[in-house]
Amino acid sequence: MKLREFAQEVYEILCKEYPNAKCMLNSKSPLELLIATQLSAQCRDERVNKVTRIMFPKFRDVYDYANTEPRKIEKMIKSLGLYKVKAKNIVSSCKRIAEVYNGQVPDNMEDLLTLDGVGRKTANLILGEVYGQPAYVVDTHVKRVCKRIGITYGTAPDYIEKELRRVLKPETSNHFCHLIVNHGRKYCKAINPLCMTCPLNQKCLMHFEER
Ligand code: SF4
Repeated sequence: MKLREFAQEVYEILCKEYPNAKCMLNSKSPLELLIATQLSAQCRDERVNKVTRIMFPKFRDVYDYANTEPRKIEKMIKSLGLYKVKAKNIVSSCKRIAEVYNGQVPDNMEDLLTLDGVGRKTANLILGEVYGQPAYVVDTHVKRVCKRIGITYGTAPDYIEKELRRVLKPETSNHFCHLIVNHGRKYCKAINPLCMTCPLNQKCLMHFEER
C-alpha cells in the first residue's frame, strides 16, 4: 500500500476515535492564538489556558502588548517556565506586527517566521487555525506517533513536516495533526504505549515490529 493511502486510512480511523479533536489552546483572535502558542513552548495547553484566561482580558490589542514592559507580562506568565524569554518574545513580536504588518498577524510562513518566538510549529498552527491553509504542526506527539506508526522515518521536525506534506491531503493536514496529538495522549504515550487496545494496532509499524 502506498504511504498516502496508508496515511488516509490512519486519518479515517482516528477521525472515528476522536470526533472532537481540535486545537486545545483557548483564544478569541489570531493574536491571542499566536501568544498562546508562544506560551505553550515546553508547557501543557491546560496550564497555558489557565494563565491566558487572566492575562488576555488585560490587553485590548497588539498595540497594548507592544507598549508593555516585558516585566509586566513576566509576572503573569511566571508559572509557565521560560517566562523571561516568552515575555520578551511576546512584546517584540507584537511590536513588529504593529510596525511592519499594520497590526495584523501575518498570513504566510515567511513573515510569521520573522517574529520572535515563532518557529515552523507555531507558524503552521496559525496558518491552519486562523487562515485555513494546509498546516503541518509537528509537535512532540506528532514526531513520536508518526514515526511509530510508520508514516515518517525521520526525527527532525523539518524533515517530518516535509514527509507529511508529501503524504497527507492538504485539506486534512491540520486536522490530522490534532488527531495525532489526541492519540499520543490517550494511547501512544511516550512510555508504555497502550498497543493492545490501540485502534491502530492492525496498521502500526511499531506494533508489527514488536510481535
Ligand atoms: S499500536 Fe502502539 S505504537 Fe502503534 S500507534 Fe498504537 S499505541 Fe502507538
